[in-house]
Amino acid sequence: MKIKTAEFIKSVTGSDVDLDSNLPQVAFIGRSNVGKSSVINSLTNHKKLAIISKTPGRTQQINLFLINRSFYLVDLPGYGYAKIPKKKRQQIEGMLDWYFFKSGINQKKIVLIIDAKVGPTQDDLDTLLGLEKHNKNIVIIANKIDKVKKSQYEEQFKKIQELIGDHKIIPYSAFKKIGVGELLNEIT
Ligand code: GDP
Repeated sequence: MKIKTAEFIKSVTGSDVDLDSNLPQVAFIGRSNVGKSSVINSLTNHKKLAIISKTPGRTQQINLFLINRSFYLVDLPGYGYAKIPKKKRQQIEGMLDWYFFKSGINQKKIVLIIDAKVGPTQDDLDTLLGLEKHNKNIVIIANKIDKVKKSQYEEQFKKIQELIGDHKIIPYSAFKKIGVGELLNEIT
């Protein structure tokens, strides 16, 4: 499946993801700086989308994009950013909690992005655990795979898989466009 059209629909902050539509939602989540915007760019071939999501004021909101007029790509705020004031962090956590667990929205897929070189952080594992508890449909992508040396690849992936458990992990590089086709297959 190819992404032909991608349109920004709106940003929301609160408990209002009223889309007047029953189209499926595919949510993207990861800690700040993991490369979420770059992944969305690489996937949609659409530099503008991530720029919209990075517009000041929008980084801490839920940004909704309509893809191929057939599903929503939901770009969620990054978590685990120590420099964000505590109050803002709590606001973001509350928003994520609402979107995932209280809104009644059953995401078709949740794409959790981790850093292939760093491996899953405690924040990543906590997020994963929360999603697992609610039986969410999860796929993990290990971005920045281009930063992992060939000689360390196998060992690094074994380590990541052990920490992540029984989930599909797609090796990914937004820079080198590795894993794009595989991710598209998972979410469409
Ligand atoms: P976000 O904060 O999660 O949206 O992350 P960005 O997309 O802004 O990327 C954060 C940093 O990671 C930037 O410096 C990017 O250039 C870098 N980055 C993103 N994807 C990749 C990748 O696939 N490989 C490498 N080497 N760097 C990446």
